[in-house]
This record gives sequence, C-alpha cells and structure tokens, in this order.
Amino acid sequence: MASIVEAVLEELKRHDIEKVEEVHMVIGELTFLGKDQLEFAYEIVTRGTILEGSKLVMSDEKVQVSCTTCGYAGGVDYVSGGGYDHVIPNLSCPRCGGAVEVTKGKSCAVTSLKVVER
Ligand SMILES: [Zn+2]
Repeated sequence: MASIVEAVLEELKRHDIEKVEEVHMVIGELTFLGKDQLEFAYEIVTRGTILEGSKLVMSDEKVQVSCTTCGYAGGVDYVSGGGYDHVIPNLSCPRCGGAVEVTKGKSCAVTSLKVVER
C-alpha cells in the first residue's frame, strides 16, 4: 500500500492539484487483501500528504488466466472455501484442467483519481 501511495503522490507532483477527492483502485482477487485492512493502511500512509482525507474506492479485479496447454484465455471456475462465505478461484484450466498462467487478479493498482485542480 505504501509504495502505491508513493507512486500516486509522485504522479500528482506533476500536476497542479488543489486536492484529491477519490482514489480508485482495483484489487486483484488473488491478493486476498481485505478491504478494511487496505482502508486502514491507506488512512495511515496518506496522513500529512495531499491524499489525506480522500476516499479510497476499491473494486475487485477478477482472475483471468491463460492455459499453457490448450490456449484457453479467460476466467476461472470457483470453488467454495470450506467453512468460509467466499469462494476461491480454482487455478487450473476450466476447459482442459491443465496448468495456467495467471494474467489478471494478482495485483492491486490505482486506476483513476478524482481531483480538484487549482
Ligand atoms: Zn486448457
């Protein structure tokens, strides 16, 4: 989270910004990061910066894979995690069951900012 915020601050330096209202992020399903945790961390690392008080808007990034065996590319099947409410992406090819490479869903990144310019 700290490195992401640093990158955003670096980007903001190049513009004449009065304040930042919202920071939009996508959170990959495979990061297994809790939104509460992220919000909490965000508040701490933005304290004393131009981002202080801005709203962190998070959306999920679904897992996407590409199959090394049959060439399938797309989403995956989900299995329900024992005892948990949420489902877990099944990281094998839904078509042939082969090994896959994860192409999306592993990272968290800032997608857009809502700013007030001076
Ligand atoms: Zn496959």
